[in-house]
Formats: sequence, structure tokens, C-alpha cells
Amino acid sequence: MLKFRMIIEKLSNHSDETCKKFYESKEWKQCRANFLREQKEFKCKICDKPTNIVDHIKPIRYYWHLRLDQNNLQLLCQGHNWNKGSKTGLKYKKKIKIELFSDDECIEDIIY
Ligand SMILES: [Zn+2]
Repeated sequence: MLKFRMIIEKLSNHSDETCKKFYESKEWKQCRANFLREQKEFKCKICDKPTNIVDHIKPIRYYWHLRLDQNNLQLLCQGHNWNKGSKTGLKYKKKIKIELFSDDECIEDIIY
């Protein structure tokens, strides 16, 4: 039998000021340098334009704990990075996670 569970994850909401400070911090510069060193190609993930702008896939404002997570980083060109930044406010207002599970299996789905 399938059971159903809905979890609304509480996201952090840090101020622009806090995020700006983070992007100037030593720990971010180090993290960014490590990420760039691992890259084979310096291309925008969306349009292939040459770039070295490192973007957080999940924005740090809402996912503060992922700010130094290498798996949360990607390369985006200036256009796509800017475009994304202006949209994330709405997209990440809340995250609803629905889990369907039976006794021996667990299916997870994330809906924005
Ligand atoms: Zn692009």
C-alpha cells in the first residue's frame, strides 16, 4: 500500500547584504577557485558561450547551507546568470516535497 506525505521545507532567507558579503569572502573565493580548477571547458551550461562566472544552482539566499557545496555550482554566462537572478525570488519562495512510499520503497519527488 502506498502512503503519502507532504513536507514543506522551510528555506532560509538571507538578506542581499549577507549574500554580497559572502561573495567577497575568502572562503567563497577559495571554493570558486577549486571549482574552476576542476572544469575542462569554460562554457555557459545553457548556451555554450565562453564564461568563467560561477553560479549557485540553488541560490544561497534560500539554500545557505549549500553555499560552499561544489555540487551546487555551475558555469553560466552573464546573460543567463542575470536572467536567473531576477527570477529566483518567486521560484524559491517555498519548496514542497512530496514523498510517496510503500513499506519497502520510497519515491521522492520535488515540486517547485
Ligand atoms: Zn548562457
